[in-house]
Amino acid sequence: MAGAGGVFVFIEQTDGALEDSSLEVLGKAREIADRLGSKVTGAVLGEGVRPLAEECARRGAHTVLVADSPLLKNFTAEAYTDVVAGMVKARDPDMLLIGATHNGTALAGMLAIRLGAGLMAHVVDLEIEQGTGMLLGSVPGFGGSIVAVCKCKKGRPQMATVRPGVFQTPKPTDQAGAVEAFAVALKPEDVRCQVVERTVQHSASVSKAQRIVVAGLGCKDDLSLPKKLAEASGSAFGVSRPLADKGVAPKNLVIGSTGSSLNAKLAVVVGVSGAAHFTSGLRNVETVVAVNSDPDAEIFKHADYCVVGDAAKVVPKLISELGGSSP
Ligand SMILES: Cc1cc2nc3c(=O)[nH]c(=O)nc-3n(C[C@H](O)[C@H](O)[C@H](O)COP(=O)(O)OP(=O)(O)OC[C@H]3O[C@@H](n4cnc5c(N)ncnc54)[C@H](O)[C@@H]3O)c2cc1C
Repeated sequence: MAGAGGVFVFIEQTDGALEDSSLEVLGKAREIADRLGSKVTGAVLGEGVRPLAEECARRGAHTVLVADSPLLKNFTAEAYTDVVAGMVKARDPDMLLIGATHNGTALAGMLAIRLGAGLMAHVVDLEIEQGTGMLLGSVPGFGGSIVAVCKCKKGRPQMATVRPGVFQTPKPTDQAGAVEAFAVALKPEDVRCQVVERTVQHSASVSKAQRIVVAGLGCKDDLSLPKKLAEASGSAFGVSRPLADKGVAPKNLVIGSTGSSLNAKLAVVVGVSGAAHFTSGLRNVETVVAVNSDPDAEIFKHADYCVVGDAAKVVPKLISELGGSSP
């Protein structure tokens, strides 16, 4: 049964900006805690990050612990593991949730070992088991063709990393939780990794787009047509993974089990075969329109509207219907 320890959330920030995925996890944590009659504790680490903690306290955390130190300015897995493990031991939560970003997954793995806890990785949903109050995590497997409902049988806390984009960001409220400083006992030699340079790729978060055009290998290497369709319809643009692997499009535009999950009202998918690794990213799309020259393409099983035809002929017609001109 869930105890008084409640739900603990690691809240990630980069250069003083909160990660969206952490806020999404915070919102779900509050929902779970309300259901169990327990509390949410957030943890914000960094340098000069108290304002971020205050924002989290307005977005559902009952308490936010702040570890403020120049040694925590940049995420380093070892130093962050030391501090978060200390916080978790002090608070003894029932559950520990972390956004499944690159940093979040690195931290979660190290924390699970350090704490001797079970970890459900990249969950796409969280529930509470009737009767036991245990955390149930939905973990996609085999490229999203199955979803296994898992729970942590041993260890404490029950841990999960949560795939970005699957939960809603909670809105700020007038009822703010408490913000408490957490003393950092790190020494410079504890930070064994130094960030020398960081390159940040800014993406127009495909998982938040309401409309999106997604191109696959059937578009060959020339993405100008699907990009023009995206522009003409005011949509975001995404790709299947092979296009990113070939270097034709950036990796942050990939849709699927190793990319982003969509939450769009409309996705127009052009020249994509419909492999399970790809379609796992379409689960939350309201309406899927697929364009493919193969009438037996797997993608049509996942589409609401199926257009059998050559993308080079169909897409210009769609663009012209929308009042645009093809490149
Ligand atoms: C561990 C792992 C993880 C993976 N993760 C992902 C992931 O996150 N996202 C992802 O996308 N993939 C992922 N993949 C790869 C995935 O399994 C597929 O190989 C990939 O999705 C196929 O991409 P595609 O549909 O663009 O290409 P293809 O499978 O080659 O399909 C191209 C399609 O275009 C159609 N076509 C061809 N010419 C035209 C034309 N002129 N007009 C219209 N249609 C045309 C064809 O009929 C075909 O259906 C992963 C694979 C592995 C092993």
